[in-house]
Amino acid sequence: MFTLLFLVFLFADITLRLWLGIRQIRHVARHRGEVPPEFFDRISLRSHQRAADYTHGKVQISLVETITEAAVLIGLTLLGGLQFIDLKLGQLIDHEMWRQLALIGSILLVMGIVGLPFTLWRKFGLEARFGFNRMSFGLFVSDTLKGLLVAAVLGLPLAAGVLWLMGNTGAYWHWWAWGAWVVFNVLVIWLFPTVIAPLFNKFTPLNDPDLSQRIHALAQRCGFAISGLFVMDGSKRSAHGNAYFTGFGRSRRIVFFDTLLSKLTGDEVEAVLAHELGHFKYRHIAKRLVVSFVLALVFFQVLGWLSQQVWFYTDLGVIPQLGRPNDALALILFFLVMPVFTFWITPLVSLMSRRDEFQADQFAAQQSSAQALISALVKLYDDNAATLTPDPVHSAFYDSHPPAALRIKKLKHAH
Ligand SMILES: [Zn+2]
Repeated sequence: MFTLLFLVFLFADITLRLWLGIRQIRHVARHRGEVPPEFFDRISLRSHQRAADYTHGKVQISLVETITEAAVLIGLTLLGGLQFIDLKLGQLIDHEMWRQLALIGSILLVMGIVGLPFTLWRKFGLEARFGFNRMSFGLFVSDTLKGLLVAAVLGLPLAAGVLWLMGNTGAYWHWWAWGAWVVFNVLVIWLFPTVIAPLFNKFTPLNDPDLSQRIHALAQRCGFAISGLFVMDGSKRSAHGNAYFTGFGRSRRIVFFDTLLSKLTGDEVEAVLAHELGHFKYRHIAKRLVVSFVLALVFFQVLGWLSQQVWFYTDLGVIPQLGRPNDALALILFFLVMPVFTFWITPLVSLMSRRDEFQADQFAAQQSSAQALISALVKLYDDNAATLTPDPVHSAFYDSHPPAALRIKKLKHAH
């Protein structure tokens, strides 16, 4: 029964993803010949067509990836891939904890290897073709190795901890595991700005007295205590620009990509930052974190129940072994299969995110300047080759940010 349910959902997922992707490609192609009237004076036809081609390329890669991932998922579950790896590791490793960690590691490795060609295609194919990639192959290799190391240092203790809790805390293990998950996440958020991010990028204090003074004045108006203003060498990897803030408490800092500062005027940088401060003011980031913890709690409860059901294993192509823990198997199956079902809440998540974006835009218009934010947005869309004419259905389903035309229309009427 569960096999059938899984297949029906998986098939529906793929169909919907392909349908949305093809809609997006067609819609963008139909509007490729003409810059939308509201952008006529600011964006050239050449740029507009470049954005259309870039969007086409992005969707194309994601469609091939969708089909590949589905095939790998079926291979690992129903066709016996996971079962095969589990049996092999059972013969090789006696220690239960190491055997289970090795199983989790092997599956992550398989997923990593499957994802690698797509990452390469994106960075050195698509991004390079449109002039966005600034990363050498050597840097890519060193990033990948560093990323693996960080994942191992953080992930191994987490996985070992959760497996230990599953095996030793009885019927309420999922509550304990959830607690460990929450602590782990808070720890990573705390460590990210000062320990993890500097492994990959250089952060230098913002050295522009004029801009710095503006930002401090803005932060003060908004009641935001800044503990640091930094510029990140984003240009080392990509021409895409961004700004964000990160950390909490004393480690809270504002980070600008050097690529953003080089493109925007002082007014525009201030407006972009005011938008980010809007997210802070309305507690969007904290709310998202709470929502993610509540969802994790639900997932752990469901996992706690599923891990006790024999059909959960057998219907997904794995035979749980008697007389040894099957916790790693349950975790892997759950994290492999769950996205097939949770894919359907994507539009809801996107909708909430877009609502937050509008709210942050309004805040920026009040605290800074709607005009400056509009001109910054147009520049960023242009520079990032983001399409101005997305398919409305595709956008409603996936986009975390509202289409440019809508954002600008609302900003024009902001007060
Ligand atoms: Zn935003």
